[in-house]
Amino acid sequence: MYILGIESSCDDTCAAVVKDGRELLSNCVASSAAEQNLYGGVVPEIASRRHIEHISQVARAALDEAGTALDEIGGVAVTFAPGLIGAVLVGLNFAKGLALSAQKPLIPVHHLRGHIAALYLTHPELEPPFLCLVASGGHSHIVRVQDYTHFEVLGRTVDDAAGEAFDKVARTLGLGYPGGPAVSRAAQTGDSKAYPLPTPHVEGPYNVSFSGLKTAVLNLVNKAQMKGERVNVADMAASFQFRITDILAEKLLLAAQDTGAKQICIAGGVAANGLLRETLAAGAKKLGARLYLPELQLCGDNAAMVAAQGFYEYRAGNTAGLNLNGLATLGIDYL
Ligand code: ATP
Ligand code: FE
Repeated sequence: MYILGIESSCDDTCAAVVKDGRELLSNCVASSAAEQNLYGGVVPEIASRRHIEHISQVARAALDEAGTALDEIGGVAVTFAPGLIGAVLVGLNFAKGLALSAQKPLIPVHHLRGHIAALYLTHPELEPPFLCLVASGGHSHIVRVQDYTHFEVLGRTVDDAAGEAFDKVARTLGLGYPGGPAVSRAAQTGDSKAYPLPTPHVEGPYNVSFSGLKTAVLNLVNKAQMKGERVNVADMAASFQFRITDILAEKLLLAAQDTGAKQICIAGGVAANGLLRETLAAGAKKLGARLYLPELQLCGDNAAMVAAQGFYEYRAGNTAGLNLNGLATLGIDYL
C-alpha cells in the first residue's frame, strides 16, 4: 500500500511516498531554514507563509518522483500534532483537501511517532518492542515502543529539549541556526575537557534537564566578556556537546538496563549527532543490546517518516474524519 505523507509542523514543507511503511519511494522538502537563520530561530508566521506557498508543488513532486498517481495512493497521512499550530494547520488542511477530492482515507500522525518510524525506513528488520530516545527541537523523551501504535514514556526533559539546548548554545556562541550541526562542526577542533560543565540533578531515574547546562555556558561566556576576554568557541562547543550527549546516552542505557531492552534506538534531529551515535554504540555493545540508528537524512523533519507511521496507524484503524483538528501539544501516548 502506498501512503502519501505530509509534514509541516515546523519550518520544512515536506511530502513523501512510502510503500508498506518500509520502502521510501520519494522524499521531498522545501525548507525555510535559511530565511529563519536571519532571525536566529523559527518565526512561526514565516514558516506558515512558506508552507502555503510550497506545499502544492512539494506534494506534486513527491507523487511524480515516486511515479505514483494520486488514485494509486491508499491514504493521505499528515502530521496533526504537536508543532507550531499555524504551520501544522497548513499541511493538515492541504491533506484534508487532497483526501476529500481523491476520496482517500485521512490518516492523522503524531509527529514524534513519525520520528520513530524513520527507523523502519532505515532498518527493514526492526520491529517493536524496543526502547527509543526521541531527541529533537521540542522534545526529549525516553519511550518504550510497545508496538507500532502504543507508546509508554519512561522519562522526559523537565525543561529544555536537547535540540533546543543545542540551538540556544549555538546562539550564545554566535554559531547560527540550526544549532545542532553548527555546534557539532565547531566541536571538531575543540577540547571537550576544556570547560567542565555540570550534570544537572533531576528527579526521576530517566528524566533529563538541560536548562542549567545551557545557563552554565551562558554564564561562562558572560564572565569572560566582563573580563574583556572571550571563551574558546571550539572548546566550549566540544565541552557542551560532550556533556549533553553523555547525559542522553547514560539515561537511555540505564533505562535499557533496567527494562532489559535488547533493541535500543534513537530518533529526532539530535539523533544525527555523531558523538551521541558513537557513545551509544559503545554503551549498547557493553549491554549486549543492538543499537539502531536512523539514516542521517531521516533524523530531522521529513514526510517519509510520517508516511511510514501512517501505514501502521491505518493498519490499526486510526483514520480521521474531515473534522480533524491540529494540536500544538499532544502526548505520544494519546491513543
Ligand atoms: P520536534 O520534533 O520536537 O517537534 P523539531 O521538529 O523542530 O522539533 P527536529 O527537526 O526533529 O526538531 O530536530 C531539529 C533539532 O535537531 C534542532 O534543535 C537541531 O539543532 C537539532 N540537530 C540537528 N542536527 C544535530 C546534530 N548533528 N547534533 C545535535 N543536534 C542536532
Ligand atoms: Fe521534528
